[in-house]
Amino acid sequence: MTDRLYPGGTQGKPEKSPKEERPVKHGLAFLSLLFAAAFLLIHAPWAAADTITGYTPIFRAGHDTSGTLQVAIRQFKQNGLPRFLIVNPATFATATVKESELDFSRQVASATLQATPYLRTLDRHTAPPYLLQNHGARHADQPVNGVFLTIDMCPSSRPFEREFFATVARLPQGERGPVPVAVAMTGRWLQQHPKELAWIKELTVTGRLAITWVNHSLTHPFDPKAPLEHNFLLKPGTDSERELLATEVLLLENDLLPGPYFRFPGLVADGRLIRRVRELGLIPIGADAWLAKGETPGKGSFILVHGNGNEPPGIKKALTLFTSGQLHLLPLDRAFTAPASP
Ligand SMILES: [Zn+2]
Repeated sequence: MTDRLYPGGTQGKPEKSPKEERPVKHGLAFLSLLFAAAFLLIHAPWAAADTITGYTPIFRAGHDTSGTLQVAIRQFKQNGLPRFLIVNPATFATATVKESELDFSRQVASATLQATPYLRTLDRHTAPPYLLQNHGARHADQPVNGVFLTIDMCPSSRPFEREFFATVARLPQGERGPVPVAVAMTGRWLQQHPKELAWIKELTVTGRLAITWVNHSLTHPFDPKAPLEHNFLLKPGTDSERELLATEVLLLENDLLPGPYFRFPGLVADGRLIRRVRELGLIPIGADAWLAKGETPGKGSFILVHGNGNEPPGIKKALTLFTSGQLHLLPLDRAFTAPASP
């Protein structure tokens, strides 16, 4: 009986066998491995949790290592190393590069820069008269054979539209390449949904979705009782500079690349905000087919739905439209730029 309960015997102090010491040694080895892994995660250059510091807006044209004209719009340090966020003014593609990889020594004439699709689009969509709601690009600037899907991720505690993302990723056009969508992300949603974000990111890593990340502010202020003039980013006490820039930092820290676009929360802004967004090199993205509001998309439409679970009727409508196979989705850049040459 005693032997069964206390193997090895309890009469007096049992002798330690080599077998019994093993777990202790294993424990120590495991601990040192854990410390080593933690050290690597913090210090390795490929670590997922990159630290961005000194995030500063700039606006400076230069040439990359292939001699292509680029516009640096942000300067920052990533894990202590100086870098730029750059926009290709012909294609609107963004990238981050080492500071040393951008050459400012060759003069870029102001007229040359102003004539690029990027600068022309920035100017066109930030010019007065300023609309309180839906200022900016609402439709393609040129004839296109398709539509643009923009999915807003405002802060929400509801389950996000996982099935919708999965359905879009499975659309028949996906057989010819990743399905293009624009996701308007708030910093708050991103911070509060790390697992969901990782799941969305996986759809891009596996080549099923090509996401253009649109900045949709950090906290997306909203007061259900306030008039539009004092609501969203116009809500008194809003730190607009933080709202405009902090989400880009969070995207970069999550290894996601912000596009040169901004979607105003509630699509609401005033002249001051619109001018500031212009200075920051961001094109305001409105919509002409907010599905939950009963608007119907046509060719070139910017479709707006909420992917955060806050507006199921819009998602339902979108699913009907997309699964009927009538709509071909295009990447947001194509609303403003010529198709990439084959
Ligand atoms: Zn929103």
